[in-house]
Amino acid sequence: MTYEYLVVGAGIFGATMAERLSSAGKKVLVIDRRPHLAGNIYSYTDEETGIEVHKYGSHIFHTEMDEVWDYIAQFAEFNDYVHTVNTRHEGKLYPMPINLDTINLLYGTNMSADEAEEFVVKEAEAGRKKYGIVEPQNFEEKGISLVGEKLYEAFLKNYTEKQWNTLATNLSAEILSRIPVRFSHDNRYFMTAKHQGIPKEGYTRIVENMLNSKNIEVKLSTDFKDIKGDLPNDIKIIYCGQVDELLDYELGVLPWRSLRFETEKTENGLGEAVINEADKSVPYTRSHDYKYYQIHQPEVIRQKISYVAREYPADFSKGGEAYYPVNNAESAKLYEKYVALCKERYPNMVLGGRLGAYQYWDMDKAIKNALELAERL
Ligand SMILES: Cc1cc2nc3c(=O)[nH]c(=O)nc-3n(C[C@H](O)[C@H](O)[C@H](O)COP(=O)(O)OP(=O)(O)OC[C@H]3O[C@@H](n4cnc5c(N)ncnc54)[C@H](O)[C@@H]3O)c2cc1C
Repeated sequence: MTYEYLVVGAGIFGATMAERLSSAGKKVLVIDRRPHLAGNIYSYTDEETGIEVHKYGSHIFHTEMDEVWDYIAQFAEFNDYVHTVNTRHEGKLYPMPINLDTINLLYGTNMSADEAEEFVVKEAEAGRKKYGIVEPQNFEEKGISLVGEKLYEAFLKNYTEKQWNTLATNLSAEILSRIPVRFSHDNRYFMTAKHQGIPKEGYTRIVENMLNSKNIEVKLSTDFKDIKGDLPNDIKIIYCGQVDELLDYELGVLPWRSLRFETEKTENGLGEAVINEADKSVPYTRSHDYKYYQIHQPEVIRQKISYVAREYPADFSKGGEAYYPVNNAESAKLYEKYVALCKERYPNMVLGGRLGAYQYWDMDKAIKNALELAERL
């Protein structure tokens, strides 16, 4: 096959691009340097237990966009899983995001929604007064000024400090835009998601189905840097990797956060899919018990054994796994410089996906952006 397009990265963004372009009759080569498809949404079935393991952490498909749901539903059947999360603080579990039950459990009260709302407003006022906060200057001041000291200390401070490996006073106030509290018993994690679920045959199957076209060829364990010298001059490239790495970090390293997962098969499961760890004394931020996503297979959930992963935040260094961009004014400027340099060096290249765009995107956002880019191309 001679190709019109090269898609670098077989994650959900690259797969959407390849699928759309191939449907329009274009010949597409998809490469990925990993030995598997699907990028960070990759999952595989553990043969002994039938548990679908999400290699790069829990992934729950959720979206408010009908267009994205209609698109992805062509390639997978989803179960009706609705995500909920508890967070552990001093040995007790509390619903997360903070809701009326979280507040009543923490304060040992039995307030109604109106009483709790009034109470949190007073707690916030007391916090502002105690620390003399007028215009919050950082995450800590913002947190206290929104929910008061006790809720902030219990659920926001340590979790956030672990995530970013820095004090909350060093983090921007903008990270918290509004009161992260619901004055109701609603404990759905994605409260506004119109569509939500887990693909019954796993995430990797979605990508396999998307790439199943006579116009698409896939090469795994293939790094762009090893094949770029052999490419025809006029091939159009969609690049879903890091732009700083592509350009040999010529302008410096873009700031990223990374993660490390420790997984084990155990009879000490969580009893639910995800538990957050709000305390400083626990070094990981979340635990995942993947079998609880398989609500369409009760026999998988009923077995004693679980596949539990503990998620540890980690610093990023060159060549490591980039998980979350550290988006701020400085990194945005550096990214823009890289984009300009990339245009000079690779005029036929478009950057895309969460790594190429240097953005945190949920799957639906990645798909939406790919659909729009494919349409433009
Ligand atoms: C811990 C965690 C949990 C998440 N949970 C959810 C969730 O519950 N729901 C949700 O909607 N979203 C979730 N997300 C977001 C989701 O993972 C992303 O939206 C999605 O993975 C983006 O896909 P992508 O194709 O842009 O990137 P990726 O999946 O990262 O794909 C990029 C691919 O490019 C390849 N690549 C890079 N450089 C090269 C190169 N030089 N040569 C060849 N190949 C290369 C990489 O190997 C990779 O496979 C989560 C993200 C994280 C970090």
